[in-house]
This record gives sequence, C-alpha cells and structure tokens, in this order.
Amino acid sequence: SVRHHPLRELTQPVKLQNVLYEIRGPVAARAAQLEAEGHRILKLNIGNPAPFGFEAPDTILQDMIAALPTAQGYSESKGILSARRAVVSRYQEEPGFPDLDVDHVYLGNGVSELIMMTLQALLDPGDEVLVPAPDYPLWTAATSLAGGTPMHYLCDEQDGWNPSVEDIRSRITPRTKAIVVINPNNPTGAVYSREVLEQIAQLAREHSLLLMADEIYDRILYDGARHTSIAALAPDLLCLTFNGLSKTYRVAGYRAGWVAITGPTHHARGFLEGIELLASTRLCPNVPAQHAIQVAVSGHQSIDELIAPEGRLTQQRDVAVSMLGRMEGVSVVEPQGALYVFPRLDPDVHEIRDDVQLCLDLLEQEKILVVHGTGFNWPTPDHLRIVTLPWSVDLRAALERMGNFLASYQQ
Ligand code: PLP
Repeated sequence: SVRHHPLRELTQPVKLQNVLYEIRGPVAARAAQLEAEGHRILKLNIGNPAPFGFEAPDTILQDMIAALPTAQGYSESKGILSARRAVVSRYQEEPGFPDLDVDHVYLGNGVSELIMMTLQALLDPGDEVLVPAPDYPLWTAATSLAGGTPMHYLCDEQDGWNPSVEDIRSRITPRTKAIVVINPNNPTGAVYSREVLEQIAQLAREHSLLLMADEIYDRILYDGARHTSIAALAPDLLCLTFNGLSKTYRVAGYRAGWVAITGPTHHARGFLEGIELLASTRLCPNVPAQHAIQVAVSGHQSIDELIAPEGRLTQQRDVAVSMLGRMEGVSVVEPQGALYVFPRLDPDVHEIRDDVQLCLDLLEQEKILVVHGTGFNWPTPDHLRIVTLPWSVDLRAALERMGNFLASYQQ
C-alpha cells in the first residue's frame, strides 16, 4: 500500500464562501445516494428536457453530425462566424431589437459560461449587482465569485411575480453596476409586462446601469403570452441578452449559448476587452455544438407544437397548476412561460421552518426530488420549485403523492 505524504489540509477558499448552487446541492446528493442503493427517484429538480422524452429536432442532430469531421480544431474564441451571423439574423427578425454587430455576439458553453465570463469582466470587489429574488441561483453565485455583491430585489407574488420596481429602486447605491432581468423567469414562470420592463430600463437609464437579460426561455410561452426583450425597449443602453439551445431546442447537454451585446458599446471598450480576454483564455466553446446554432435558430421552430394550447408542455403546466391548486394550504401563480411551477406553502397551514429539511423528507418518504425555495435566494422557507417536464400521467401521480405527504407533514 502507498504511504501518503501528509498534505496540508485543503480547506475551501474564502472566495467560494458565498457561492451556492442548491439545485444540485445536498438534497440532490442524497437523491444520488438513494439511487445508488437501488431506489427509483422522480427528479423534478432540473430543467433538463432530454430525460423526459423531449427530443431535439432531427435537423439539429443531422447538421451537427455532418459537421463533426470539420469541427475537430479550435474555433475563433468568440465562436464560429456562421453561428454568430445566425444569431444576428434571429434578432433582426425581432420587432424593435436594436442593431447588433456580429462582433458583439459571443458564443459559450451554454449561457452558464457566459454569465460567469461577463460578470468576471464587469465587477471589481464590492461592486453591486441587482439580482431578482427568487432568482436562477447561478446569477447570485457568479456575482459573488466575481468579487461582487448580489443585491436581491423582490419579485411580487401578489403581482404575478413581476419585479417590484420600487424595491429595485430602493436597493440602488453608488456601487450598483448592473440589473439582472430573468424573463421569462426561472423559477416563477412569470413573463414580464412591457410596462414593468420599461420602468426597469428607465431606472437603468437614470443610474447608468448595465442591463443583463437572461432570456433562455423566451420561446417557451403559454396561453399566447408575448415576450419582450428589454434590449428592444432600451436601444440607448448597454444591454447583454443571453440565450441558447438548452431549453427551446432541448439540447442542454450540447452546451450551446450566446450573449448579444447591444447599445453604446463604444462606451464599454474596457469591458468588451475583458470579455474578449476571458473568451480567449477558455480558447473557444465546444465546436460541434456551435454548428447546431445556425440550423436551430433559422429552421422550423418545433417548440411551437409543444406550447400550443393542446401541446405537451402546456398540458403538463396545466396539470401541475390544477393539482397544486387543490392542495390545502398551497397556492400557485400560473406560469406564463418556462418549465417550472413555484408554489407557496401557506405558513399558517404548514409551518415549515426549514425548507431543505422538507425536501429531504419528501425525498426519503416519496422518492420525489424537488428544490427548496430558499435555494433560489427566496428569503422565507415557504416555496418549492417543481419542473413541469414529466408526462402528465407521471406528474399527476407525483403530485398526488406530494399532496398526501404535505397533508400530514409537520416539522
Ligand atoms: N439561465 C436560466 C434562467 C436557466 O434556467 C438556465 C438553466 O436552467 C441557464 C441560464 C443555464 O443554461 P445553459 O444550459 O445555457 O448553461
């Protein structure tokens, strides 16, 4: 046997202290353990369409396969020109979207990498970023990792989870650099009204803030909801619009995303040079996946069938909303977009003190994995996020079990 040389104890660096990503946190780790012991776990915790029988359009697969022989080398750091041009054309078709220079489109290994890169290029220690609560927690984590301070503004459940513009205003300080807008929203499914977006743009204008718009669900809309890109309402402001193939085109595993930078880029040379530098240090995004972008954004939009009134995603959203609505002490704002429901557990009925424990108990007892609301930087332990990706029959069975569990649950 090898005698180990005694290493210095490796502790976690301080810079990771506020970096959390609970969607794949301790509850998910316990689920993996249970699976290893042979239990079947219904995973309602990750917005990953493929395991639920959603297949990517065949044209995307064929195009990527055909590109494999020529996609062996590194590409330009920003990404291949044909894909960046396709992204430009996509936005040219969107009413009111500002002019977009192909040099201001960067491709990434998913939106995730671009969120990390752009916040690293933006923030000095102590700079503040306005992030929604609840949020997609990568925004909070990436802000902290980049040395910044996330300042959470409240989205108002009573107002269809629209951001409270007054709350945003009250949190602006001389250190504030950017406002993050996740629309359609994960975890709430809210699709923001044009008025709210205009008010947010106006705040950004008054305080010289950068707009960072995460629009990865912009084509996953229900009941005819209309999505407005905040960039279209603020052509005079620097705006970063993030999107990619993970959700609309169901190829989350390919890791393909982009960021489109619009507005007065000539006032942001240092920032853009920083992005350029970081893009070059990661060499380039996964090249075969870049080839999927052009065919995806310019071809037939098969997501439309899934979100039609009788489409699979709409039906599943409906099942989730109606089942949750019938549970005592549970209420839910009907999502207008995205792939999640974010129900509220009435504190007078359920008295949950620790929502992580609630999810662990649900997992142990019912083998259902969901994410606690505080994992989305929601301040109180009274929400859960459930993905609406399983077939209606599975979702109905899971929610039935969850309802029974909650009815007798006490902490
Ligand atoms: N932004 C939001 C709001 C998301 O929900 C997700 C994934 O769930 C991402 C970004 C990450 O997407 P990608 O797969 O492009 O990294």
